[in-house]
Amino acid sequence: MLTHQQNRKFLSKDKARPGGKSVFLLRFLLLCCLFSVLAGSLWAFKEGTEPFQPGLFPGAALAGLVLLGFTIRRGFEFFRSSHSKEPGRDEADRDQLNKIIQSTPQPILIVDSSGKALTFNKRFADLFALVPGQDFFLLSDQPTASWDLKDAFSRAVLGESIVLPEMWRKLYFQKSPPGYREICLSWAFIPVRNASGLVEKVYVKIEDCTERKRQEEEIAQEKSRLQAALKGARQVTCEIDPLTGKIVIGSPNSGSETFYRPDGLNGLENFEELIHPDDQHQFLNLVKEHALQQDAHLNTQFRVQLEPGEWSWLQFRGQAFASSDNSQTMLLGVMMDVTREKEYELTLKESETRYRTLFANALEGMYLIHTNDSVICVNQAFATLLGYDSPAHFETGSLGTHFSQIYYIPKIREIKRQTLLDKGQIQQMETQVRRRDGSLIWISENARAIKDDAGNILYFEGSLTDITARKESEECLLHQALYDHRTNLPNRSFFAEKVDQALKKVRSDLDYAFALLYFDLDGFSAINDSFGHFVGDRLLLEVSQRTQEALGPADTLARFSSDEFGIMVEGRSRTGIQDLAEKLRQELEKVFALDGMDIFITASIGILDYDPTYTRPEDMLRDVELAMHQAKKRGKNQWVIFSSEMYKRKSERTLMEKDLRRAMDREELVLNYQPIVRLDCGELNGLEALIRWNHPEHGCVSPDKFIPLAEDTGLIEPIGDWVLRESCRQIKIWREHNNSLIMNVNISAKQLEKAGLERKVYQVLQDTNLEARCLNLEITESMAMLKMEANVRTLNRLKYMGVRLSIDDFGTGYSSLAHLQRFPLDELKIDRSFISSLNAGRSNIRIVQAIVELALGLKLQMVAEGIETKAQLNKVKTFNCHYGQGFLFSKALKPADIETIWFAPGQNTASQNIFQNLFPEVAKPPLTNSD
Ligand code: C2E
Ligand code: CA
Ligand code: CA
Repeated sequence: MLTHQQNRKFLSKDKARPGGKSVFLLRFLLLCCLFSVLAGSLWAFKEGTEPFQPGLFPGAALAGLVLLGFTIRRGFEFFRSSHSKEPGRDEADRDQLNKIIQSTPQPILIVDSSGKALTFNKRFADLFALVPGQDFFLLSDQPTASWDLKDAFSRAVLGESIVLPEMWRKLYFQKSPPGYREICLSWAFIPVRNASGLVEKVYVKIEDCTERKRQEEEIAQEKSRLQAALKGARQVTCEIDPLTGKIVIGSPNSGSETFYRPDGLNGLENFEELIHPDDQHQFLNLVKEHALQQDAHLNTQFRVQLEPGEWSWLQFRGQAFASSDNSQTMLLGVMMDVTREKEYELTLKESETRYRTLFANALEGMYLIHTNDSVICVNQAFATLLGYDSPAHFETGSLGTHFSQIYYIPKIREIKRQTLLDKGQIQQMETQVRRRDGSLIWISENARAIKDDAGNILYFEGSLTDITARKESEECLLHQALYDHRTNLPNRSFFAEKVDQALKKVRSDLDYAFALLYFDLDGFSAINDSFGHFVGDRLLLEVSQRTQEALGPADTLARFSSDEFGIMVEGRSRTGIQDLAEKLRQELEKVFALDGMDIFITASIGILDYDPTYTRPEDMLRDVELAMHQAKKRGKNQWVIFSSEMYKRKSERTLMEKDLRRAMDREELVLNYQPIVRLDCGELNGLEALIRWNHPEHGCVSPDKFIPLAEDTGLIEPIGDWVLRESCRQIKIWREHNNSLIMNVNISAKQLEKAGLERKVYQVLQDTNLEARCLNLEITESMAMLKMEANVRTLNRLKYMGVRLSIDDFGTGYSSLAHLQRFPLDELKIDRSFISSLNAGRSNIRIVQAIVELALGLKLQMVAEGIETKAQLNKVKTFNCHYGQGFLFSKALKPADIETIWFAPGQNTASQNIFQNLFPEVAKPPLTNSD
């Protein structure tokens, strides 16, 4: 507080101020001067002299009048003041004023017209940290110097009352540490005039509105935050009058962005009228209801039409509030557009309904189970599949908690659970489940684990399909694939699988032993042909039954093909196996009585012992079959144990077949020719073409070795064609040398069987320009008998063409004469076994003689094959045999040798020698064309 003494400072200054009596005297003197000037001027004007400039007079007169007016007024005031005021009255006024200033709560400062502080109150001193009595200049002292008050102050000095708007200022202070604080001040400059009306002081009033301003700003911030929050939440504030249902939307600033509608809710009068008619009534009721109970929250949704033809869903959330005078209750709250949420909710609901319908009506059994196996829900198909009436059995019954007990194999349950936990799903798991009545069915199951966002398993969902029918048909198919439908015995595939298992077992189990038997019925096709397939099938059944009876429980019988069977025996010794084979042979040899007929059949049996070189079942089957074929070769109705020799031979044969296929292209096949001579004169009658194979490794291979192979593999056809063509070509050339020569060509059974032989022969004769009568086709006796009817036809056609026909190896086939007569033959070639046996005794001689007589009786030419000795020749000569062939005359020779030895002119030719040595009785040597 300023002391009384200090306050006096401001008041005493008023005394010393200019403008008192002295000013008044000064003005009076000045007035006298002006009047004297005025009087002088008037006088000069009257006398016609011009001591002054024209116009000076009226100006001086006007100034004098003004000055006179002022002086009179001031004199009057001065007079009044010096005579009317009581002594001590000024003092009291000032004290009064001072008290008022000091007690004013706002900072107050009174300055003179230069801005120098005349007085200030405590609030002012506090605000600017002034000490009492301190000089303070408003316009030059810190901090106000920088506050730009000059303009306002000068206007105040000129008499204008100025109020500056509230403004933030920086108030620096010197305290340590020095700094500043921001304050918001409002300045008012009020000019104070003296008695003469001049501004001599300025009353400065400051309002510190820092605190208020701060609060206002906070409120404004709070408001904008709230608005931002509402905007962010897509909400607007809203007020509902429960009595009228009037809705007033607040926060208009954020409205357009709050709602999805382009024009939002801004400026919408009578908003309540936009509510959907169906929702209006309910909405009003709710509002009224909630208005009655204070603090009750209302959360409701309703439709409004913000745009023509489009309905939006709005949500109101709020509470009832009483007005301040308690006269009215309003519902205050927020409103937001929930159209999207509503639409999403609706689609969700729809899809859920769809899913539920799908789930309920699905044909697949579907389930949802907790990870602990308890059922959440199953559908009707699931219940039906397992023989229950309704899903309730699982959802509420005891089964619900032990869902997985339906599995027939309990371990499946754990495996499935573990897979679901580890991999999250199982696919097409095929397993058996038990139905309510205890029966088992096959199901295929798919399931997956449903997880939350964090990857935690919530539950499992899955589906089951009944695949029993498929499984059964699969089993049926499997049975068909592995069993022979006629005998119901395992088939070759099953047997091979069994052998494979045995091969695996024998490697790990040293005590384990097994062997294979393979048997084929001898002449079964003849039984089929003679008695028909029905009897054949019956016989096979009987055979399989008889075999089965001969076997032990550890033995497996399988049917491989029509009359081929396999047996796998386990745990038998070598002799035990042989005994079994013999027993089987004997059993099958016994008569089968079928449909009143006695049928006899035998079996050829191959035996194969396991040996460690075998790793694949097919190798074992191959070898045991080879042993069976060996048994056949050795005369049938016997058993043969496989030896590696058989396989070797088989392999050689296989190799040879491969080579033979290439032999033609490589020109390894050649023809040699063996002369056939007339036995009456020793002349060369013809030649037999005999094939040779010049194998690059094995040298010359005999036709006995490769012709049967060629017949088996079908190679005989191209080989035979080549032989025919080559030999015809050759004889055509040689006939130029001796035009009576005939070429004998061997024809295989396979060639004869094949249709079109006659066409081929015809073509070759055409191509080589050879007369048919120069070609003699040799057919073995047994071959000719094979398919008689067809052969007779073919041979007749050949005969018709003029080709000669011979029966080769005659006598080995024991053909009946009646049969032979049906063939259009020209010649018989007596097999060399008869000729070589001529030395052995009289009985053989008789046989040969009988054969020759027979042939002669049929008017056939006779050729004696294999004449090796003179004695044989002489014997044959006595039988009146026409021709002879044999080493005695010549071996089969290369064409060049034939030409040099048999055709060259001169004494040393073979024919000359033969003639001289073998036919001395003939007087004249044989003639050749060249002779
Ligand atoms: P094959 O038709 O009976 O032929 C006669 C065979 O007896 C020939 O054997 C011949 O060399 C042999 N031979 C002839 N005279 C004597 C003899 O005095 N003593 C002995 N020990 N043997 C004699 P090769 O050439 O080995 O022919 C064997 C068989 O091969 C032929 O018997 C024939 O069946 C067949 N063959 C030969 N060439 C062909 C051919 O081109 N086609 C066909 N399909 N088979 C042929
Ligand atoms: Ca022959
Ligand atoms: Ca022969």
